[in-house]
Amino acid sequence: MDFIQSVNTTTLLSHALPHTTDTYWNHLEQISQYNVHLNYLERMWAAWYAYMGNDVLATGIMSFLMHELIYFGRSLPWIIIDCIPAFNKYKLQANKIPTAAEQWQCAKLVLISHFTVELPQIWLFHPMAQYFGMGTSVPFPPLYKMAYQIAIFFVLEDAWHYWSHRAMHWGPLYKGIHKIHHQYSAPFGLAAEYASPIEVMVLGFGTVGVPIVWCAFTKDLHILTMYVWIVLRLFQAIDAHSGYEFPWSLHHFLPFWAGAEHHDVHHERFIGNYASSFRWWDFVLDTEAGPEAAKRRREKKLAEARKAQ
Ligand SMILES: [Zn+2]
Ligand SMILES: [Zn+2]
Repeated sequence: MDFIQSVNTTTLLSHALPHTTDTYWNHLEQISQYNVHLNYLERMWAAWYAYMGNDVLATGIMSFLMHELIYFGRSLPWIIIDCIPAFNKYKLQANKIPTAAEQWQCAKLVLISHFTVELPQIWLFHPMAQYFGMGTSVPFPPLYKMAYQIAIFFVLEDAWHYWSHRAMHWGPLYKGIHKIHHQYSAPFGLAAEYASPIEVMVLGFGTVGVPIVWCAFTKDLHILTMYVWIVLRLFQAIDAHSGYEFPWSLHHFLPFWAGAEHHDVHHERFIGNYASSFRWWDFVLDTEAGPEAAKRRREKKLAEARKAQ
Protein backbone atom coordinates (compact mmCIF):
# COMPACT_ATOMS: atom_id res chain seq x y z
CA MET A 1 0.00 0.00 0.00
CA ASP A 2 2.75 2.37 0.97
CA PHE A 3 4.63 1.51 -2.19
CA ILE A 4 1.63 2.28 -4.45
CA GLN A 5 1.08 5.51 -2.65
CA SER A 6 4.68 6.59 -3.09
CA VAL A 7 4.62 5.67 -6.79
CA ASN A 8 1.46 7.73 -7.22
CA THR A 9 3.00 10.68 -5.45
CA THR A 10 6.07 10.51 -7.68
CA THR A 11 3.93 10.37 -10.83
CA LEU A 12 1.84 13.27 -9.60
CA LEU A 13 4.93 15.26 -8.73
CA SER A 14 6.56 14.64 -12.05
CA HIS A 15 3.37 15.75 -13.82
CA ALA A 16 3.20 18.86 -11.72
CA LEU A 17 6.89 19.67 -12.24
CA PRO A 18 7.84 18.53 -15.74
CA HIS A 19 11.57 19.27 -15.32
CA THR A 20 11.88 16.71 -12.54
CA THR A 21 11.43 13.89 -15.10
CA ASP A 22 14.62 15.03 -16.79
CA THR A 23 16.96 13.58 -14.19
CA TYR A 24 19.85 11.25 -14.84
CA TRP A 25 18.02 8.44 -13.04
CA ASN A 26 14.95 8.84 -15.24
CA HIS A 27 17.11 8.54 -18.33
CA LEU A 28 18.73 5.46 -16.83
CA GLU A 29 15.34 3.93 -16.11
CA GLN A 30 14.07 4.57 -19.62
CA ILE A 31 17.20 3.26 -21.28
CA SER A 32 17.11 0.16 -19.07
CA GLN A 33 13.51 -0.49 -20.10
CA TYR A 34 14.18 -0.53 -23.82
CA ASN A 35 17.74 -1.88 -23.93
CA VAL A 36 17.70 -5.12 -21.99
CA HIS A 37 20.71 -6.40 -23.96
CA LEU A 38 23.00 -3.78 -22.41
CA ASN A 39 24.87 -4.38 -19.14
CA TYR A 40 24.51 -1.95 -16.24
CA LEU A 41 27.67 0.01 -17.02
CA GLU A 42 26.60 0.44 -20.63
CA ARG A 43 23.17 1.67 -19.52
CA MET A 44 24.78 4.16 -17.14
CA TRP A 45 27.06 5.34 -19.92
CA ALA A 46 24.18 5.81 -22.42
CA ALA A 47 22.07 7.56 -19.76
CA TRP A 48 24.91 10.01 -19.07
CA TYR A 49 25.11 11.07 -22.71
CA ALA A 50 21.29 11.21 -23.02
CA TYR A 51 20.99 13.25 -19.81
CA MET A 52 23.70 15.73 -20.81
CA GLY A 53 22.32 16.15 -24.35
CA ASN A 54 25.70 17.56 -25.41
CA ASP A 55 28.42 15.05 -26.23
CA VAL A 56 31.33 17.50 -25.99
CA LEU A 57 30.23 18.55 -22.52
CA ALA A 58 29.45 14.97 -21.46
CA THR A 59 32.90 13.69 -22.50
CA GLY A 60 34.66 16.82 -21.20
CA ILE A 61 33.20 16.63 -17.69
CA MET A 62 33.65 12.86 -17.48
CA SER A 63 37.28 13.02 -18.68
CA PHE A 64 38.29 15.86 -16.39
CA LEU A 65 36.67 14.35 -13.30
CA MET A 66 38.14 10.95 -14.07
CA HIS A 67 41.61 12.43 -14.43
CA GLU A 68 41.39 14.35 -11.14
CA LEU A 69 39.93 11.41 -9.26
CA ILE A 70 42.57 8.97 -10.47
CA TYR A 71 45.48 11.39 -10.15
CA PHE A 72 44.83 12.47 -6.59
CA GLY A 73 43.19 9.18 -5.59
CA ARG A 74 46.25 7.22 -6.66
CA SER A 75 48.65 9.71 -5.08
CA LEU A 76 46.92 9.58 -1.70
CA PRO A 77 48.11 6.09 -0.67
CA TRP A 78 51.70 7.21 -1.40
CA ILE A 79 51.24 10.30 0.81
CA ILE A 80 49.99 8.04 3.61
CA ILE A 81 52.86 5.59 3.09
CA ASP A 82 55.32 8.50 3.42
CA CYS A 83 53.89 9.12 6.92
CA ILE A 84 54.34 5.52 8.09
CA PRO A 85 57.92 4.80 9.28
CA ALA A 86 57.50 1.03 8.75
CA PHE A 87 57.56 1.62 4.99
CA ASN A 88 60.83 3.54 5.13
CA LYS A 89 62.85 0.39 4.46
CA TYR A 90 61.24 0.18 1.01
CA LYS A 91 62.04 3.78 0.09
CA LEU A 92 64.58 3.98 -2.74
CA GLN A 93 66.25 7.15 -1.43
CA ALA A 94 65.56 6.48 2.23
CA ASN A 95 67.05 9.72 3.50
CA LYS A 96 64.80 11.85 1.31
CA ILE A 97 61.22 11.51 2.53
CA PRO A 98 59.18 14.42 1.14
CA THR A 99 57.71 16.72 3.77
CA ALA A 100 53.99 17.53 3.93
CA ALA A 101 54.77 21.13 2.93
CA GLU A 102 56.68 19.97 -0.14
CA GLN A 103 53.84 17.69 -1.21
CA TRP A 104 51.25 20.40 -0.66
CA GLN A 105 53.29 22.88 -2.72
CA CYS A 106 53.54 20.33 -5.51
CA ALA A 107 49.81 19.49 -5.35
CA LYS A 108 48.88 23.16 -5.66
CA LEU A 109 50.98 23.64 -8.78
CA VAL A 110 49.72 20.43 -10.35
CA LEU A 111 46.14 21.50 -9.65
CA ILE A 112 46.68 24.91 -11.26
CA SER A 113 48.18 23.23 -14.30
CA HIS A 114 45.23 20.80 -14.50
CA PHE A 115 42.76 23.69 -14.66
CA THR A 116 44.75 25.98 -16.96
CA VAL A 117 46.71 23.66 -19.25
CA GLU A 118 44.98 20.30 -19.24
CA LEU A 119 41.33 21.32 -19.04
CA PRO A 120 41.24 23.12 -22.43
CA GLN A 121 42.99 20.16 -24.02
CA ILE A 122 40.59 17.70 -22.45
CA TRP A 123 37.74 19.83 -23.85
CA LEU A 124 39.19 19.56 -27.36
CA PHE A 125 39.41 15.83 -27.02
CA HIS A 126 35.82 14.92 -27.95
CA PRO A 127 35.60 16.95 -31.18
CA MET A 128 38.99 15.57 -32.20
CA ALA A 129 38.05 12.02 -31.31
CA GLN A 130 34.81 12.33 -33.26
CA TYR A 131 36.60 13.74 -36.26
CA PHE A 132 38.77 10.63 -36.35
CA GLY A 133 35.80 8.33 -35.84
CA MET A 134 36.26 7.23 -32.22
CA GLY A 135 33.23 5.33 -30.90
CA THR A 136 31.30 6.71 -27.94
CA SER A 137 28.13 4.63 -28.15
CA VAL A 138 27.07 1.39 -26.49
CA PRO A 139 27.57 -1.58 -26.45
CA PHE A 140 31.21 -1.41 -25.41
CA PRO A 141 33.92 -3.21 -27.41
CA PRO A 142 34.85 -6.77 -26.34
CA LEU A 143 37.51 -7.12 -23.63
CA TYR A 144 40.08 -8.85 -25.84
CA LYS A 145 40.02 -5.89 -28.23
CA MET A 146 40.46 -3.37 -25.42
CA ALA A 147 43.35 -5.44 -24.05
CA TYR A 148 45.36 -5.72 -27.28
CA GLN A 149 44.80 -2.06 -28.19
CA ILE A 150 45.95 -0.94 -24.74
CA ALA A 151 49.02 -3.19 -24.99
CA ILE A 152 49.89 -1.52 -28.32
CA PHE A 153 49.43 1.95 -26.77
CA PHE A 154 51.77 1.01 -23.89
CA VAL A 155 54.51 0.00 -26.33
CA LEU A 156 54.08 3.04 -28.62
CA GLU A 157 53.79 5.56 -25.78
CA ASP A 158 56.95 4.17 -24.24
CA ALA A 159 58.84 4.68 -27.52
CA TRP A 160 57.52 8.25 -27.87
CA HIS A 161 58.37 8.96 -24.24
CA TYR A 162 61.89 7.58 -24.58
CA TRP A 163 62.83 9.79 -27.54
CA SER A 164 61.08 13.00 -26.51
CA HIS A 165 62.25 12.68 -22.89
CA ARG A 166 65.81 11.99 -24.07
CA ALA A 167 65.61 15.05 -26.34
CA MET A 168 64.45 17.15 -23.38
CA HIS A 169 67.69 16.33 -21.60
CA TRP A 170 69.58 18.19 -24.31
CA GLY A 171 70.97 21.42 -22.75
CA PRO A 172 68.67 24.19 -24.09
CA LEU A 173 65.53 22.05 -23.92
CA TYR A 174 66.42 20.91 -20.43
CA LYS A 175 66.90 24.47 -19.21
CA GLY A 176 63.83 25.81 -20.97
CA ILE A 177 61.36 22.98 -20.38
CA HIS A 178 62.32 19.86 -18.47
CA LYS A 179 64.16 21.37 -15.50
CA ILE A 180 60.89 21.99 -13.64
CA HIS A 181 60.09 18.27 -13.55
CA HIS A 182 63.54 17.60 -12.10
CA GLN A 183 63.01 19.92 -9.13
CA TYR A 184 62.54 16.80 -7.00
CA SER A 185 65.63 14.61 -7.08
CA ALA A 186 63.72 12.10 -4.94
CA PRO A 187 60.27 11.97 -6.56
CA PHE A 188 56.91 11.16 -4.94
CA GLY A 189 53.56 10.17 -6.50
CA LEU A 190 52.13 13.68 -6.77
CA ALA A 191 55.19 14.88 -8.70
CA ALA A 192 54.29 12.73 -11.74
CA GLU A 193 52.65 15.64 -13.59
CA TYR A 194 54.74 18.38 -12.00
CA ALA A 195 56.13 19.77 -15.24
CA SER A 196 56.19 22.67 -17.67
CA PRO A 197 53.03 23.11 -19.81
CA ILE A 198 55.12 22.42 -22.92
CA GLU A 199 56.34 19.16 -21.42
CA VAL A 200 52.78 18.19 -20.51
CA MET A 201 51.80 18.72 -24.13
CA VAL A 202 54.81 16.99 -25.70
CA LEU A 203 54.79 13.94 -23.43
CA GLY A 204 50.98 13.98 -23.35
CA PHE A 205 51.00 13.34 -27.07
CA GLY A 206 52.27 9.84 -26.34
CA THR A 207 49.27 9.18 -24.11
CA VAL A 208 46.49 10.96 -25.99
CA GLY A 209 47.88 11.46 -29.52
CA VAL A 210 49.02 7.87 -30.09
CA PRO A 211 45.50 6.41 -29.67
CA ILE A 212 44.05 9.19 -31.85
CA VAL A 213 46.54 8.42 -34.63
CA TRP A 214 45.73 4.73 -34.17
CA CYS A 215 42.03 5.56 -34.55
CA ALA A 216 42.67 7.70 -37.65
CA PHE A 217 44.26 4.69 -39.35
CA THR A 218 42.18 1.80 -38.11
CA LYS A 219 38.83 3.55 -37.54
CA ASP A 220 38.44 1.15 -34.67
CA LEU A 221 38.71 2.62 -31.18
CA HIS A 222 36.17 3.20 -28.45
CA ILE A 223 36.48 6.07 -26.01
CA LEU A 224 36.11 3.61 -23.10
CA THR A 225 39.27 1.81 -24.27
CA MET A 226 40.93 5.21 -24.24
CA TYR A 227 39.72 5.81 -20.65
CA VAL A 228 40.99 2.46 -19.38
CA TRP A 229 44.32 3.14 -21.10
CA ILE A 230 44.63 6.59 -19.53
CA VAL A 231 43.78 5.22 -16.07
CA LEU A 232 46.48 2.54 -16.41
CA ARG A 233 48.98 5.07 -17.76
CA LEU A 234 48.25 7.39 -14.80
CA PHE A 235 48.84 4.48 -12.41
CA GLN A 236 52.11 3.75 -14.20
CA ALA A 237 53.30 7.37 -14.05
CA ILE A 238 52.32 7.95 -10.39
CA ASP A 239 53.75 4.62 -9.23
CA ALA A 240 56.98 5.26 -11.16
CA HIS A 241 57.35 8.50 -9.17
CA SER A 242 56.33 6.97 -5.84
CA GLY A 243 59.92 6.46 -4.67
CA TYR A 244 59.14 2.99 -3.30
CA GLU A 245 60.36 -0.40 -4.38
CA PHE A 246 58.70 -3.46 -2.82
CA PRO A 247 59.53 -7.16 -3.07
CA TRP A 248 56.16 -7.45 -4.81
CA SER A 249 56.79 -4.63 -7.32
CA LEU A 250 55.77 -5.56 -10.85
CA HIS A 251 59.26 -5.50 -12.39
CA HIS A 252 60.29 -8.48 -10.24
CA PHE A 253 57.74 -10.52 -12.18
CA LEU A 254 57.98 -8.71 -15.52
CA PRO A 255 61.71 -7.93 -15.88
CA PHE A 256 61.11 -5.51 -18.77
CA TRP A 257 58.63 -3.40 -16.74
CA ALA A 258 60.31 -0.14 -15.65
CA GLY A 259 58.54 0.77 -12.39
CA ALA A 260 59.68 3.11 -9.62
CA GLU A 261 63.19 1.71 -9.34
CA HIS A 262 63.89 2.69 -12.98
CA HIS A 263 62.53 6.25 -12.83
CA ASP A 264 63.78 7.05 -9.33
CA VAL A 265 67.38 6.63 -10.53
CA HIS A 266 66.60 9.00 -13.39
CA HIS A 267 65.55 11.71 -10.93
CA GLU A 268 68.51 11.01 -8.67
CA ARG A 269 71.18 11.07 -11.38
CA PHE A 270 69.58 13.20 -14.13
CA ILE A 271 71.08 11.03 -16.87
CA GLY A 272 69.78 7.76 -18.34
CA ASN A 273 66.57 5.72 -17.89
CA TYR A 274 64.48 7.88 -20.22
CA ALA A 275 61.68 5.43 -21.01
CA SER A 276 58.34 5.38 -19.18
CA SER A 277 56.88 1.88 -18.96
CA PHE A 278 59.51 -0.54 -20.22
CA ARG A 279 63.25 -1.09 -19.93
CA TRP A 280 64.03 -2.21 -23.47
CA TRP A 281 64.86 1.15 -25.11
CA ASP A 282 67.37 2.11 -22.40
CA PHE A 283 68.83 -1.39 -22.48
CA VAL A 284 69.27 -1.61 -26.26
CA LEU A 285 70.55 1.97 -26.68
CA ASP A 286 72.80 1.74 -23.61
CA THR A 287 71.28 4.64 -21.72
CA GLU A 288 70.59 2.75 -18.49
CA ALA A 289 71.30 4.74 -15.35
CA GLY A 290 72.63 3.69 -11.96
CA PRO A 291 75.66 1.99 -10.47
CA GLU A 292 74.89 -1.45 -11.95
CA ALA A 293 74.67 -0.07 -15.48
CA ALA A 294 77.90 1.90 -14.92
CA LYS A 295 79.62 -1.27 -13.73
CA ARG A 296 78.44 -3.20 -16.78
CA ARG A 297 79.71 -0.41 -19.04
CA ARG A 298 83.13 -0.41 -17.29
CA GLU A 299 83.46 -4.18 -17.63
CA LYS A 300 82.54 -4.00 -21.29
CA LYS A 301 85.19 -1.35 -21.91
CA LEU A 302 87.81 -3.38 -20.05
CA ALA A 303 86.94 -6.49 -22.05
CA GLU A 304 87.26 -4.52 -25.29
CA ALA A 305 90.60 -3.09 -24.21
CA ARG A 306 91.85 -6.57 -23.36
CA LYS A 307 90.73 -7.85 -26.76
CA ALA A 308 92.58 -5.04 -28.52
CA GLN A 309 95.87 -5.86 -26.76
ZN1 LIG B 1 64.10 13.73 -17.15
ZN1 LIG C 1 59.83 11.98 -13.56
